[in-house]
Amino acid sequence: MSAHLVVLSGPSGVGKSSVIREALKELPNTWLSVSATTRAPRPGEVHGENYFYVSQEEFTDMIANDELLEWAEFAGNRYGTPRKAVEDSLRVGKSVLLEIEIAGAKQVKAKVLEAILVFLEPPTWEELVSRLEGRGTDSPERRAARLALAQEEMAAASFFDKVLINDQVDGVVASLIE
Ligand code: 5GP
Repeated sequence: MSAHLVVLSGPSGVGKSSVIREALKELPNTWLSVSATTRAPRPGEVHGENYFYVSQEEFTDMIANDELLEWAEFAGNRYGTPRKAVEDSLRVGKSVLLEIEIAGAKQVKAKVLEAILVFLEPPTWEELVSRLEGRGTDSPERRAARLALAQEEMAAASFFDKVLINDQVDGVVASLIE
């Protein structure tokens, strides 16, 4: 079986992490890329597992050295996909999953023509708002910024190869695996 590069995007709070966690249990030959970010770790997050937490200077260097497959600014922080680990994984036949925002997804599609772009939508807008508000890890200002962004992100769904509605995790996971 050939290795695929799959990009999962969707508005903040749509439940991308839960879908990925479940999908990876059933996809042994798939690696979830670990991004670099200038965002501070949230409680419980681990360097090298959730993200590589880097300084602004380090991130700028990574861009200058062409170490990132894509990168984007989101809610005041920069996020990017380290290129080498993705390429190494694909080379040895292991599929790669990227969980990134939309501007980054577009860059991946432009560079890697065979990448498969999947967009995860909430069942309803109200559902998304309540999930974002329930998260509780962000300040009110941060949350408002994320909601505004989510609204923009929802409009980008048409760019993607496949749109999945996260109404029921099992069903979405099955579609993603397929
Ligand atoms: P969070 O701060 O909630 O972990 O992530 C914020 C947003 O950044 C999410 O939409 C997430 O998918 C996105 N993101 C995470 N890593 C990357 C990356 O490497 N590149 C891009 N473009 N977006 C990312």
